[in-house]
Amino acid sequence: MSLLSIVLPAYNEEENIEKVCEVLGRLFSQNGMEYELVFVNDGSKDRTWEKIRKAGEQYPQVTGIQFSRNFGKESAIFAGLGQARGDAVAVMDCDLQHPPETLIEMYRLWENGYEVVEAVKSSRGKEGFLHKHSAGIFYRMMSRATGIDMQNASDFKLLDRKVVDALRDMPERNMFFRALSSWVGYKTVTVRFEVQERNAGESKWSTASLIRYALTNIVSFTSMPMQLVTISGFVVLMLALILGIQTLVKYLSGSAVEGFTTVILLLLLIGSAIMISLGIIGYYLAKIYDEVKHRPKYLISEIIRGRETEELSGQSRNY
Ligand code: UDP
Ligand code: MG
Repeated sequence: MSLLSIVLPAYNEEENIEKVCEVLGRLFSQNGMEYELVFVNDGSKDRTWEKIRKAGEQYPQVTGIQFSRNFGKESAIFAGLGQARGDAVAVMDCDLQHPPETLIEMYRLWENGYEVVEAVKSSRGKEGFLHKHSAGIFYRMMSRATGIDMQNASDFKLLDRKVVDALRDMPERNMFFRALSSWVGYKTVTVRFEVQERNAGESKWSTASLIRYALTNIVSFTSMPMQLVTISGFVVLMLALILGIQTLVKYLSGSAVEGFTTVILLLLLIGSAIMISLGIIGYYLAKIYDEVKHRPKYLISEIIRGRETEELSGQSRNY
C-alpha cells in the first residue's frame, strides 16, 4: 500500500499539534490509508517542540524536525519534503485552516494518476481592505511571471514522489513553494477548498513580514522590475529628446531666459528615477549574493521518528 506523508510547518502552534494528530489520525484510519505526519518546528518560542515529541510518543506515524532557529515557512516546507518518505506528499498548515477532508479528495486524484494536486481557495476568507488589494497586486505579478493564475493559490498541495524529488534537487535558496510546484509542470489538477477558521492561536504574518515575503518572491521568480528600469530609462530619454529640441529651438530663436522651473523639475524627476532604479538593481544584487553564498536553506538540530531520536548525518542536518 502506498504511504501518504503530510508536511506540517509549525511556528508557535502548541495548541494545535495534538488536535491535528487526532483529526488526521481519525480521518486516515477511517479511509484505511497509511500515513505519516512530518511536523517541522520552525524555531517556535512556545512549547510546540514538546508537543510534537509527545505526539511522537503517542503516534508512531509522527516525525518531528526541529530547526535551530526560525527559518520561515518556505524553508520549513522544504525541510519537510526532504524528510518525507511517502509515495505522495501533501503540504498543509497545522492550524486546520486547510480542511483535512480535502486531503482525501486530493489523494484519490493522485491515485488516478495526477502528479500535482493543487488546492485553491474558493474565497480568500476574511481579510482587511488594504491586505486584500496589495495581495491582489502581488498575485497578479506572480501570475504574469509564472503564467499560472495564482490569485487563489495556497500552500495546500499534494505532490507525487517524482515532483518532490525534483523540488528537492533545486539548488536555489529563495524558494517560493506555491509557484515552484506549478513551474515544475507534471500532470496537474486543482481542487477547491473553503478556508476554515484557525483552530487556535493567531496568524503569524505581520504587515512587514508580508511585504518581505512578496518582495523576495517577486525577485526570485521574475526580473520584470529590472526591465521596468530599462523601460523607464527609455521613456525619460524620449522626454529628454523632446525637451532638448525645444530648448535648442528657443535658444536659436533668441528667447531662452526663463526655464529654471523646468531644470529643477527635471533634476528631481531624473534623480528619483535613477535612485529607484539603483534600488531595484541593488535588491537583485543582494539576492544574487545570497544565492551565491550557497548557505543551506535551514539547519536541523534534531529529528524524531515516533519515539526514536534519529542520528543526524551531515546530509540531513542541512540542505
Ligand atoms: N509558519 C511557519 N513559520 C513561520 C510562519 C508560519 O512554519 O515563520 C507556519 C504556521 O505554523 C502555519 C502556517 O505556516 O502552520 C501558516 O501560517 P499562518 O496560519 O500564520 O498563516 P495564515 O494562515 O494566516 O496565512
Ligand atoms: Mg493559518
